[in-house]
Amino acid sequence: MNELDSEVMAGILERRGFSEVTSEEEADILIFNTCSVRDLAERKVLGKIGRLGKLEKRPLIGIAGCMASSKKEALFQKVPYLDFVVGTNNIHELDAILDEALQKRPVTRVSPQFTEELDYKRAKRKDSIKASVSIIRGCNKFCTYCVVPYTRGREVSRLPESIVDECKTLADRGYKEVMLLGQNVNSYGKDRPEWGCSFAALLGRLNDISGLERIRFMTSHPVDISDELMVAIGALRHVAEYVHFPLQAGSNRILRKMNRGYTVEEYLQKVQKLRALVPDVALGTDIIVGFPGETEDEFRQTYDMVEQIGYSNSYLFAYSPRKGTPSTRWADDVPKEAKEERLQKLIDLQNRITTSHLESLIGKEVEVLAEEESGKDATCLKGRTRTWYNVVFPGSSDQLGTLQRVVVQKVINQTLFGTIIT
Ligand code: SF4
Repeated sequence: MNELDSEVMAGILERRGFSEVTSEEEADILIFNTCSVRDLAERKVLGKIGRLGKLEKRPLIGIAGCMASSKKEALFQKVPYLDFVVGTNNIHELDAILDEALQKRPVTRVSPQFTEELDYKRAKRKDSIKASVSIIRGCNKFCTYCVVPYTRGREVSRLPESIVDECKTLADRGYKEVMLLGQNVNSYGKDRPEWGCSFAALLGRLNDISGLERIRFMTSHPVDISDELMVAIGALRHVAEYVHFPLQAGSNRILRKMNRGYTVEEYLQKVQKLRALVPDVALGTDIIVGFPGETEDEFRQTYDMVEQIGYSNSYLFAYSPRKGTPSTRWADDVPKEAKEERLQKLIDLQNRITTSHLESLIGKEVEVLAEEESGKDATCLKGRTRTWYNVVFPGSSDQLGTLQRVVVQKVINQTLFGTIIT
């Protein structure tokens, strides 16, 4: 979502007459589009801006993103060189903010709720084959460790006609894949029942767009995945069989404490149903280890769930308390060493599982979208399978943006290598 917001902001800057430069020293304006999910990301940004403020020719410096939304004016105390702060829900005001910041700094614009439809069609896209498309912003779930509901506000679905229109325009421009984005795509349309368009129905409409080869989506909250959606994933030709399905923890006590809204048993039932309706589906997940009070036994339950489900990939994190979230009322009592040890155990397990999934594909045919050139002399192409695995194969630039049938020959560093079947 942040990358898409950056593309929208770059589009606004370009229309204002700015162009991209390759180094920070050359820039007249620097905007840091920040993430607040982890403490480390925040500290890195502050350190970086601190250093840049000492440049001889000082650019106009702004902070956007979740850190802007959560810290607001307080950022000016932390970073004296800062000129403006743009919340995640205020990107559409960037032009006016710049006007104001050029006159008199500092400027802060942070709204608690997303309301304005952004000018996505004029975003400055980085890629010419794949594009991110926002379909719902904000989150109503309030997991106790998460800042998103406080920084991005409540769920706001985007009008289906606007999404279809943008995807048609992207397809007309030659894009082959869209990634539909939302903190919880599965609850798309629930805030606007009068539209009569569920997420599954939206996928059906996008599946009919001529030229669009692949439709992906992220993230799917386990509570909101419906039978209708599972059926749609299995039935719609262009919807890729990959579901990012965050588990977060494998213990019911910790899930309750996280306010995730499901039990381990309910989660497993959904996985079983999904696998029955979409036999080739690959599952990804997010896990937090070392949540306040997590015992060794509760971590073991998480470990066992990961092993039992056999995710194709996972994003694994050690818990860090985020200011303003309910989980800060509990002591961050799992020692750092224990968190690191648990994290490493899960990383090792996931590596073994992913490698075994990949090795099972040796000798088999997979469909790959050729997305970029690869290798020093660009004699190879790189792309992904429908199930999100990376594949490298010999090919030339005129094949970029095409779907290829590739037979897998080997696996190196969690990447598949193969050759095109002619
Ligand atoms: S569902 Fe995701 S975005 Fe929403 S509060 Fe929970 S972790 Fe945060």
